[in-house]
Amino acid sequence: MAGLRLLLVSTPVGPLGSGLGGGVELTLLNLGQELLRRGHGVTVLAPAGSVLGDIPVVGLIGELQPTAHTQGRNTPITLPKQSVLGQMWDYARQHQGEFDLIVNFAYDWLPFYLTPFFQTPVAHFVTMGSLSEAMDGAVQRVAAQFPGRLGAYTRTQAETFGCGEAFAILSSAIDLEAYQFCPTPGNALAWLGRISPEKALEDALAAAEVAQVPLKILGKLEDEAYWQTLCQRFPQAEASYLGFLPTQELQAVVGQCRALVMTPRWVEAFGNVAIEALACGVPVIAYDRGGPSEIVQSGTTGWLVPPDDVVALTDAMQRLETLNRSACRHQAETDYSLPALGERFEAWFGQCLSSPSPGGDGIGTIATWAPYPSP
Ligand code: UDP
Repeated sequence: MAGLRLLLVSTPVGPLGSGLGGGVELTLLNLGQELLRRGHGVTVLAPAGSVLGDIPVVGLIGELQPTAHTQGRNTPITLPKQSVLGQMWDYARQHQGEFDLIVNFAYDWLPFYLTPFFQTPVAHFVTMGSLSEAMDGAVQRVAAQFPGRLGAYTRTQAETFGCGEAFAILSSAIDLEAYQFCPTPGNALAWLGRISPEKALEDALAAAEVAQVPLKILGKLEDEAYWQTLCQRFPQAEASYLGFLPTQELQAVVGQCRALVMTPRWVEAFGNVAIEALACGVPVIAYDRGGPSEIVQSGTTGWLVPPDDVVALTDAMQRLETLNRSACRHQAETDYSLPALGERFEAWFGQCLSSPSPGGDGIGTIATWAPYPSP
């Protein structure tokens, strides 16, 4: 399948390149590049100020959306004044005739709600697990009304929505050439990610303190108050915060580490940082929950330990010598290459375009619009 005209609509929580979008920023970059290489036309729609390698981005001005993980499960849907999310979907509506398929990467209610109102098919790549009742309802309605139009990173993530079978499981990938294999690490461990409570950096700090190993921390400082609390709680930890680094610098630091530690408190949808570490030959110690549990081959390319168990985490930090760094790189090459990602997405796009659409104009389809599932 070649030559599709694709509109990829980014997250409205921050410009691409800011780090506020988390792993979806890297996914969009890698996927966009691979789709271009395969001969598709790619246009990315994103908040103004976005940069996505060489991929052309249409930037729209507007107020950013709050991130879903900072809202409660029962918080009503919010749309700020002059919402960039609204602007992006207005643009998508006005320009839909120029595209064969619109792919939504925003974890927001509005694009799901708008799906039946578009003539051009809208598919949704869902980038987090279930976080809100309102979003669950919107996702379930698309699952019922537009079979095949939902994609997710992992099976565990998809299942949090109560309609896991409706999702195409698309995994993730990285540009392997951008990551150098490092056979001879130093003594430190790495922790990568947005510094925000759902990532539970405190568990990695507590374990590193007990195991007496240095911890290098890299990532977007999303929640400053939380970070300050951690600095006060773990004054003894030999930890250094190196900032939010571009991929080239990130991989140079991570490659030198003995392992990556992943401590998400939530059901991590995937964990792009896990495959970035593997590509450098760095094993991954992670809680056995969410995306990492589908990535790490425990005993070979890392250790999966019981979720939220800091003692088990500490113990795993002291059992790294049996893990094989070449096997880590090999797993990244086998399971997470860009061509494989491109094939999976193309197959999904084919499914989205061939599945019958219940109607064209939104007004006419309201009567057949699936009801919300009963609570
Ligand atoms: N990242 C980065 N620089 C850093 C630390 C992290 O660019 O210094 C990126 C990393 O490459 C990854 C993203 O931040 O793509 C984190 O994504 P992940 O899927 O691990 O978690 P999410 O933030 O989506 O929950």
